[in-house]
Amino acid sequence: MTSCLFCRIIAGEIPAAKVFEDADLLAFNDINPQAPMHVLIVPKRHLATLNDLTAADDALAGAMVRCAAAIARDRGCADSGFRTVFNCNAGAGQTVFHIHLHALGGRVLGWPPG
Ligand code: AMP
Ligand code: ZN
Repeated sequence: MTSCLFCRIIAGEIPAAKVFEDADLLAFNDINPQAPMHVLIVPKRHLATLNDLTAADDALAGAMVRCAAAIARDRGCADSGFRTVFNCNAGAGQTVFHIHLHALGGRVLGWPPG
């Protein structure tokens, strides 16, 4: 989907600071980080929101979560603590309509989120 920002990053049309890549996933630093670690994990296949996931995507969703945990471990956040967030639709703050998992860490994170 050429109009999608994250599809364009995946296609290499827009630069991003890549953290991890495999056949199914790309992870890159958020351009407007909200914590010392703020990485976005995205599937290479365009899926607009969590509402588009089906049972066939269970392995993909699990790989996204495990990718976030591996990056947090690499960044030294595994023991101190990190947060993963999927925003789904505008009311929850989703601004890019290509599924992405935020992985945040490196500082104390308040709860509840805003
Ligand atoms: P959300 O609000 O959950 O849809 O998150 C979208 C995230 O994408 C925000 O945290 C933005 O800072 C981030 N973002 C927007 N454009 C870019 C970009 N070109 N490269 C990296 N991150 C981006
Ligand atoms: Zn997309």
